[in-house]
Amino acid sequence: MLIAGFKRLTVTFVTPATAALYSIRKLINVAGNVSDAWFAVDSMTFEEVSTIDNHSVANIVINFDDGDASVYTQAYSYMNSLGLKGTSWVIGGFVGQAGNITLAQAQEMYAGGWDMGNHTWGHSHLSSLSEADQETAILTNSLYLENNGMPRGARYLAYPFGEYNADSLIACANTGQRMARTTNDGYETSCFKIANRYILNGKPTPYGMTLETAKAEIDYIISNKVTGLVYFHKITDTPEILNWPIADFQALMDYVALKRMQGY
Ligand SMILES: [Zn+2]
Repeated sequence: MLIAGFKRLTVTFVTPATAALYSIRKLINVAGNVSDAWFAVDSMTFEEVSTIDNHSVANIVINFDDGDASVYTQAYSYMNSLGLKGTSWVIGGFVGQAGNITLAQAQEMYAGGWDMGNHTWGHSHLSSLSEADQETAILTNSLYLENNGMPRGARYLAYPFGEYNADSLIACANTGQRMARTTNDGYETSCFKIANRYILNGKPTPYGMTLETAKAEIDYIISNKVTGLVYFHKITDTPEILNWPIADFQALMDYVALKRMQGY
């Protein structure tokens, strides 16, 4: 999706035969999905990224927990019109049920550049499960995403209810999760570091949070060059608790797109 007033430039790049590693730097600092923000942008080894303490650019990752139907009907359609990508944290066992996205919608969003991330198979209270059962809840959903043609975000986890314990970190490692997001309120200045990759902070958008407050979060992320994992749930005209109104959501996405156009 090309934003009005911008031109698309294309170059052919040939990897030198002797190159062992090269890095691709993005020029646009607002990324929508997890793999873009953390891996696709800078192609580096884990050992290298573990030494990075700070990002050189701001990253805004727009997250949607739970796979509510509005992620497709409201968020995807609107963000698409602005050229923004997002990450939908999918609960495999809920897909296709009333009020939730369908498998076809998930696959369409994936094809559109969104990541379909892992939110466990049944939205489990992980910290109440044994370590083995946590692995099952996590891995079942990774395999569901991968077996349905959506591998990109399948090994990134968002903890349901934000709940995790020491066993969760083991379960993440044992099931090959690359990173995991909590609901601990905060930004990431060092999310490339291996040490904290399973306890990444998020920025909530609870019902009642004003548009101006949310815009201030975006401004903070940009001016401090941090990674903000901003997460939503349902986008609706009748918001409550964890949900956000459609008009405010659209205005906030307009603001993100504006900031990107301004070169942040
Ligand atoms: Zn959830």
